Amino acid sequence: MIVLNRILVTLLALASGFLFAAHHPISEPSPYPQVDAIAGEYGVRVVWTAPAETRCGVGMAGCYTPTAGFVELVNSLSAVKAEEVVRHEVAHFLIGQTCGANSFAQRDEEATEAYSDLYLGGDPALNGYRYGVEDVERAKNYRKGVC
Ligand SMILES: [Zn+2]
Repeated sequence: MIVLNRILVTLLALASGFLFAAHHPISEPSPYPQVDAIAGEYGVRVVWTAPAETRCGVGMAGCYTPTAGFVELVNSLSAVKAEEVVRHEVAHFLIGQTCGANSFAQRDEEATEAYSDLYLGGDPALNGYRYGVEDVERAKNYRKGVC
């Protein structure tokens, strides 16, 4: 019985270690402290990864995983691009806080980009998602908690 308990404790320790690592991934050194500062204003941590190591998907500049509490950015971005992407990812986070993680609103890319430009200082000229008037209206509604 003691041996079995030790095996169980060992397995639990391994499993919790894995889960901790998955939720608290180790970041590469930050190339842009100002980008970390933008996220930090909203209580969000940036995890920087090499392009080949990203969990966002091949070719993605960054991503936000609901409930994880961090955004991931690829560390090969230019400073201007990284600042734009972090605002977009933080917008996903903020919309998720208002409308619910994994809600449609939280995954609404066009409205998220509009939200980033309206409220987080994003640059409309760098609009990676072509949003229109209706997307802007949804962004404004999400801001008000109308999801
Ligand atoms: Zn997005």
